[in-house]
Amino acid sequence: MEYYTSILKSSDEDNCVSFNCPHCHERFKLEMNEFEEFEGNIIYCPSCGLNDEIDAFCSDDLIEAAEIEATNLVKDYLNDMFKGLSKKSSKNVRIKTTPLIKDSSPTLYEKDDLELFKTNCCDRVIKINPISYSIKPYCPYCGGVS
Ligand SMILES: [Zn+2]
Ligand SMILES: [Zn+2]
Repeated sequence: MEYYTSILKSSDEDNCVSFNCPHCHERFKLEMNEFEEFEGNIIYCPSCGLNDEIDAFCSDDLIEAAEIEATNLVKDYLNDMFKGLSKKSSKNVRIKTTPLIKDSSPTLYEKDDLELFKTNCCDRVIKINPISYSIKPYCPYCGGVS
């Protein structure tokens, strides 16, 4: 049995969404239209310059929300199963079930706390925390130093 769920997260006022580096855990943002245009499978961390598959850069809050969603789907399934079980009660056997309470998904929003930066190589908008950078950031799209 497979379930699909989608987690919606709105971008910030510059249409940027957070990513987390799986290597150094630095958070950075990419502009959504540019990111959707991007056809590669790997991106580079602007901070440490290491690359990984795009999925690995999924931001922590998205993973957290996905875990809650997944747990809720399981609870839905179990609740349905228990409901069916209750109906099977007979005179001699009484099955009483109480539904599992679902957790509410956290509301995801983008804090506007990073500084806008434009890469010269690919002409792309990224947002970074300037405190983490003593040198120029790597370009998330090509890995070059802008
Ligand atoms: Zn990194
Ligand atoms: Zn580039």
